[in-house]
Amino acid sequence: MTDGARLFLDAWTHARPQPPARRAATLLARLGGEAEPERLPIGVRDRRLLELFAGMAGAHLAGVAECDSCGGAIEVAASVDMLMSGPPTAPILVEIDGERVPVRFPTTHDVLAAVAAPDPSRRLAELCAGKGELGAGEAEQVGAALLAADPLLDPQIAVTCPDCGAETVFGFDVGAFLWAKVEDRARHLLSQIHRLACAYGWTESEILKLPEARRAAYLELSAA
Ligand SMILES: [Zn+2]
Repeated sequence: MTDGARLFLDAWTHARPQPPARRAATLLARLGGEAEPERLPIGVRDRRLLELFAGMAGAHLAGVAECDSCGGAIEVAASVDMLMSGPPTAPILVEIDGERVPVRFPTTHDVLAAVAAPDPSRRLAELCAGKGELGAGEAEQVGAALLAADPLLDPQIAVTCPDCGAETVFGFDVGAFLWAKVEDRARHLLSQIHRLACAYGWTESEILKLPEARRAAYLELSAA
């Protein structure tokens, strides 16, 4: 990520003040070269982002969660590949008013429009079904059909508790996970820049032009 360090920090700076619903699209545009990521179905967008970040942060996801049954700590481990499985199936048809209506996957544009509405999940279902007004039950049906067709829209990871044997299912927020990785990487880069600038008087731009291995080597020398 030599040439990528500057690009990466610029992407982070740009995405940081944005609402979470927009950040994923910004990262994909700036780091993945995607022309109009706001128009991509969310599942497609997140698959491309996960691929991009598997290269940066590794394909392994790990964390600690609490057992629903005994409250014990459970180590949760998953791989990006596990999340990527189950690609979207099409077309999706939902029966509304006795009519089979084709439903499309939501995009970033849809999500941003829906979060501004009084009932975001109903609005999102209406946008995906191309219908002006859906009843609560119909909106739920549309939501369920979308989730069934693409598990990445709401990934679930099932874990068995080593203490009591109970199974707990955790939801996994792809956007929040990726953003945390981006923040970690940005803080790491900024800390490198800060330490090298203090030690050698180089500018941010000079430091970012150094290959990663040379930055690390100079950091070791400056600490010796
Ligand atoms: Zn347990």
